[in-house]
Parts: sequence; structure tokens; C-alpha cells
Amino acid sequence: MLPELIGIGTPGRYDAACGIMNNSNTLCLNGRNLKDDLELTLKRAVVLENDANCFALAESRLGAAASLMSDPSKLAFGIILGTGVGGGIVCGGKARRGAHGIAGEWGHNELIPDGEPCYCGRRGCVETVISGPALERYYQKLTGVFKPLEQLASECHADDAAAETIDRLLFYFGKALAAVINIIDPDVCILGGGVGQVEQLYAQKAVQAIERHLFNNELRIPLLKPLLGDSAGVFGAALLSYPFKNTDPS
Ligand SMILES: [Zn+2]
Repeated sequence: MLPELIGIGTPGRYDAACGIMNNSNTLCLNGRNLKDDLELTLKRAVVLENDANCFALAESRLGAAASLMSDPSKLAFGIILGTGVGGGIVCGGKARRGAHGIAGEWGHNELIPDGEPCYCGRRGCVETVISGPALERYYQKLTGVFKPLEQLASECHADDAAAETIDRLLFYFGKALAAVINIIDPDVCILGGGVGQVEQLYAQKAVQAIERHLFNNELRIPLLKPLLGDSAGVFGAALLSYPFKNTDPS
């Protein structure tokens, strides 16, 4: 049987009060009523959710953190680290939207005062420092050469500038993530997106980079690789139509 609702993941957020999209890095969506447009076209009810929330929801209910998150008291922070930087908070099988619809949006916290300009209108946002394009720009500024981040991560041992770029990622990833952990204290973090595939993010050096800024001084939660691949957001969007069932036998 088809679900009554069609779940759709989108960058940005749908502001139900105003009936418009905002905060989207797909700028053409901002100020538009995407929900009404889709419902009119599809002739079905549509529920929109931020794409990072969809990722966090999918990995919490079906993916890397599914076992841990079957306990509805647990809280997950699902991180998108890729072309952009976003995140979603999941508890009790649901993504938390928050009063402003921006829960988990750590990508636009200030990381470097007066740093590079961001599409959001501010400067030095997390996204301008540890997104894939930001790190590739950093390497290019050092060397005059463009290399994709994946290559930089694998050539660290032989390329000082690549090593410096990955060290920059680890340092600022630790600083930015510790600020989130200090506030929401999640039980697990799942690292999605292209940058989330950098192996060094799961090594001791990254843990130490977080601990340097953590109030607790010791990181006790797992940093998990996602299990659902590039389709996680699609699974999460589909889950918007299906209620969470606590499968924990206890
Ligand atoms: Zn920004």
C-alpha cells in the first residue's frame, strides 16, 4: 500500500508558518512555496524535511546507529560533511526540527572570526573552513594546484601541503564538533558526506582534536561511518511517512 504522504528531503527548511523555503544553499528555493508546488504537481500530500535531518533519521533508524538508537532515550547527531556542512538531531525515532527549524545546523556557526565569506551572508562559518570545497581551496592556495580532497587524504604521507590541509580539517572539525557536543551531548555521531569518508576523521588524532575543546576532556561516544551510502537521505525521506517503532525487547 502506498503511504498517504510522500516524504521529500531538501536543502534548507520549510517554514510552515510563512509557507516558504529558507536557509537553502540551493538559493532558487528560498522564498518559494515548494510544498504547495509539489502537492499541486504530484496531487499527493507532501512532507518536507531538511536533507541532513533525513540523513540523520535514516542512519539512526536503519543504518549505522540503528542498534543504539532503538532505545528511544538515546540521541544521535547525524553530520553532513561534504560540499556543505549540516546536521540533524534524532531522538525517539524522530528528527528534531526546533523552534526555528534549524536544530543541528552547526555549519553556520562562526569558526574563524572574519574568515571567508559564506553564502549565508556571514563570514568564517564552519562550512567555509571544513567543507570539501573549502579544504580544496586551502590546498590550492598553498600549492597553486587543485586536487580533490580524497586524493589529499591519501597523499598525506608524501605531500606536506596535503598533510597540512588534513591537519586543518582535523583541528577545526574537533573545535566545531566539540561546541555541538558540549551543548547537546549526543550518544553517537554519524559522519556523512564526502568529507566524512576521510579515514583520518576516525583516528585518534581526530578524537584528540575534539577533546581539546570538550568540557569533559574525554570523548566517550562513537564516531560512526554511515552504512546507507549516498541513498541515506532518500531512506530518511521515505521514513517520514512511517512511524518509529521501538524494537528493543527490553
Ligand atoms: Zn554561513
